[in-house]
Amino acid sequence: MKLLIMGPPGAGKGTQAKILAHKFNLVHLSTGDILRKEIDRNSEVGLKAQTYMNAGNLVPDEVLLEMMNSTLTELKDEGVILDGFPRTIPQADGLSKIFQSLNQDIDAIINIEVDKDVLIRRLVERAKNSGRADDTEEVIKNRQNVYLELTAPLIEFYHGNIINVDGDGSIDKVTERILKRIP
Ligand code: AMP
Repeated sequence: MKLLIMGPPGAGKGTQAKILAHKFNLVHLSTGDILRKEIDRNSEVGLKAQTYMNAGNLVPDEVLLEMMNSTLTELKDEGVILDGFPRTIPQADGLSKIFQSLNQDIDAIINIEVDKDVLIRRLVERAKNSGRADDTEEVIKNRQNVYLELTAPLIEFYHGNIINVDGDGSIDKVTERILKRIP
């Protein structure tokens, strides 16, 4: 099974992705986590990504596409849940091509919807103990704007194939809503 989970920063997609990965025995591919590990390792990709990430901007598409092409090819026989990728239309186009070349398809696209005020409140709360360099109020606001400008258009791009889920409520409640809708 190939799942894709989307939603604005703070929607809880990482938390839900972990739960779904566990439940369906999927590899959880969080591009944010992968990039943070690359930064810790001081790798070439990490060095390229760091300044973009610290400012709350997106890392260039070609960096992500190359990274995900090799990862998805390596994991072609595994179930995966993609969390945080694609984040732009060119990335979504690239992802279609990657799956085409592997003779595969996305089984379900989950979009977690949460009100903007709730998102900012959650992110500011998370920032208190996350230790993430991109969890300052200014950067949080920038990440919301980047989401609206570059990532939200994916909802239209995937229109018709997307499962919209209300992300307001407890973690268990949101999981329950998702599970009801997965084919
Ligand atoms: P996240 O952990 O999903 O909130 O991602 C943290 C940061 O990693 C983002 O603000 C971006 O700078 C970078 N990032 C993660 N995924 C992507 C992606 N698909 N495209 C570009 N940048 C990304």
